[in-house]
Amino acid sequence: MASKIYLYILFFGLACPYVFSQKPEKPSSVAIYHQIEKLNFLGSVLYIAAHPDDENTKLISYFANEKKARTGYLSLTRGDGGQNLIGPELRELLGVIRTQELIEARKVDGGEQFFSRANDFGFSKVPDETLQIWDKEQVLSDMIWIIRNFQPDVIINRFDHRTSGTTHGHHTTSALLSFEAFDKVNDPNVFSSQLKFTNTWQPKRLFFNTSWWFFGSKEKFDAADKSNFSELKTGVYYEAFGKSNQEIAALSRSCHQSQGFGNTGTRGDESEYIELLKGAPLKDKSDVFEGIDTSWNRIKNGKQIGMLIDQILLHFDYQNPSQSLPELIKVYNLVDKIQDEHWKNIKMEELKKIIAACSGLYLEAVSLNQEATPGEKISIKSEAINRSNTKMILKSIQTSNGVPLVSKPIALNDNQLITQTFDFQIDSNEKYTQPYYLENQGSTGMYNVSNQQLIGIPDVIRNCKIQYTIEMEGTDFTFEKKIVYKYNDDVKGEVYQPFDVVPVVTSSIKEKVYLFTNNREKQIAVKIKAGKNDISGKIKLEIPENWKVSPLEQTFTILKKGDELELAFFVTPSNEDSEGSIKSRIEIENQLFDKDKIEINYPHIYKQMVLKSAEAKVFKSNLNIIPKRIAYIMGAGDEVPKSLLEMGYEVSLIKPETISRELLLNFDVVMTGIRAYNVVKELDAKQCFLLDFVASGKTMIVQYNTTDELVTSQVAPFPIKLSRDRVTEENAVVTFLEPNHPLVSYPNKITSKDFEGWKQEQGLYYPNQWDSHFTALFASNDKNESPKKGALLTCNFGKGKYIYTGFSFFRELPEGVIGAYRLMANLISY
Ligand SMILES: [Zn+2]
Repeated sequence: MASKIYLYILFFGLACPYVFSQKPEKPSSVAIYHQIEKLNFLGSVLYIAAHPDDENTKLISYFANEKKARTGYLSLTRGDGGQNLIGPELRELLGVIRTQELIEARKVDGGEQFFSRANDFGFSKVPDETLQIWDKEQVLSDMIWIIRNFQPDVIINRFDHRTSGTTHGHHTTSALLSFEAFDKVNDPNVFSSQLKFTNTWQPKRLFFNTSWWFFGSKEKFDAADKSNFSELKTGVYYEAFGKSNQEIAALSRSCHQSQGFGNTGTRGDESEYIELLKGAPLKDKSDVFEGIDTSWNRIKNGKQIGMLIDQILLHFDYQNPSQSLPELIKVYNLVDKIQDEHWKNIKMEELKKIIAACSGLYLEAVSLNQEATPGEKISIKSEAINRSNTKMILKSIQTSNGVPLVSKPIALNDNQLITQTFDFQIDSNEKYTQPYYLENQGSTGMYNVSNQQLIGIPDVIRNCKIQYTIEMEGTDFTFEKKIVYKYNDDVKGEVYQPFDVVPVVTSSIKEKVYLFTNNREKQIAVKIKAGKNDISGKIKLEIPENWKVSPLEQTFTILKKGDELELAFFVTPSNEDSEGSIKSRIEIENQLFDKDKIEINYPHIYKQMVLKSAEAKVFKSNLNIIPKRIAYIMGAGDEVPKSLLEMGYEVSLIKPETISRELLLNFDVVMTGIRAYNVVKELDAKQCFLLDFVASGKTMIVQYNTTDELVTSQVAPFPIKLSRDRVTEENAVVTFLEPNHPLVSYPNKITSKDFEGWKQEQGLYYPNQWDSHFTALFASNDKNESPKKGALLTCNFGKGKYIYTGFSFFRELPEGVIGAYRLMANLISY
């Protein structure tokens, strides 16, 4: 049997509850003690749901910190289909942010993170719909793979597999697949090709993490039959950390910044309920591990190890944790001899971290640059220090492939800093740094990852690592450190960033969508960025058939790594209507470079880099546009104003607090951004000016708001009621309720063709009741649902026009969906 593959990311959990993501772990003696307690526990729990933010962090923290169990969270998706409260990133870039938010959340609550290849393609109402887009076999295979590797004793579903249609289809699907996987994971005939790398495994119990929410109200939950429920007292207080379990859970929850899940911790008794679905019945309902040996006795020759760890805990010296080193090293050598590869790998890694922490051993390999290219030689500044009186020898420093970098042994004496500088050769075949699951084009429902051994891994894979071999008490330890980059910021202080391998050159076309409404050429700017010093090459734009570009090719030279150069091309569209993409192609020494480098940099996550094809969408269309001056009031954030500019409108972003009668005199149209009436408090006081603006003969367009609290009860001049109605099937047939209405006929004749090619959904949070002053223009619905008529409502008010629309213009316009542009032009012209 081939050696098993380990996906685990072992964290120091509570080492730093106020974790500042980029900084290395520096655990206190309390955190070290906690890790030794965890070293002594051999039970595991896997929590399963569909999205980043579905997880119950109270339960994850409870198992990781109170029960000391290995606690994993499998989120089937990375949350690409959600909304973004902190920036413009959507789709896979949002998935990248949410992946990192989960990684940070697990650092706080002590869990480990996993993902399947399923893509969060957007909302679906029932599992059948979900499984038409996900590849069921692949998602089930991934779940089984992750269970086989993680080997949980207990699996807990967030969602109920029996209540299809009451929540997001992804949610119920996650529960249904888990229910199915429980019975299949131990069968060697199921996904047998996985067994080259892993073993079958049978979890002992499957639970559903129920709550009052699933019963509709707290009263109904109180009255429910709980004979099959376990009550877990999760309101524990951790003296060692000075925090309640709920407070830790809230800190973890608050990592989901892009979802606006900032959360305030509570204190005091509290319970979570789990319902046993499969596996051995419980006598003591509060002990999910009942009948499972979670001590070292669980494995052959483990008894002595457990006894030694008991002694270490008993004699642990918070003043001087290094007192425990001789015994810990003894444990390390015993664990090294056990045959159970699964626990051996996990516990050896835990032990190495504990041993380093107890001795104050600090190792760091810093690159002088944040980026370098394949084949480049970079300079590394290495730091090694032992802060204990344990004798240590730094025997060698090498690459993870075993290439020696420093081979002269050096004694690491107590608190004597050893700094060394050496060159590190990046492999000429080294892959560019980016999320591995985005390397190959996936489908709507699935990421494309063919390497079985990568599946489940949450993070970017970084291969530039340094290995330090250190001898302590006659035992050699190898500590592997990723190369990092750090600098001092005058405001923030020490800033850590990942070290990235980048292409020699990347380029970026300025806009994502170019719209041609006549035959005139447009200037298209392309920014070129050098990944290394002194590059010269040629750049050209690939264009659709029958389009023209000038010049055909340009040469360029950039002298300094990191510098940028902007060049302009002039593109003329075809005579007929057409659409396609333009692609930036750079050639340097016969090598093609066609990637755009997108950086995602927020303070709460590790800086991310995504490489995408350097391209933009272009279309030529008989789009009729009547010039208007638009005032745009930004809501939660969207890129609609950019699209309006591209359409040729004059667009001003106006600050809500500046809205006045006088200011509005400068405009023909006011448009509110998505969720403006949920997030812009000033709109309550300013709504009278906006409605006066309409009454004076102008047009107001309000994009979707959610049913959450609104800042004003009067979003529209006449009553409308928002609902959760949505049409998630982007290809759902649209019926024209008022085929001769100006909004569907002027200046562009809207037809059903204009609803083709929409992305992810048609719209959301449609009103489901409205005053008789309103006219509904369209009806459409998802399969097996009644027609939803609230996508676009309009009314006359005074001399002007008011439009409320739940159509997803914020998705469709940046994606270059022509029909959405044509419809938007009509709204603005109305
Ligand atoms: Zn969810």
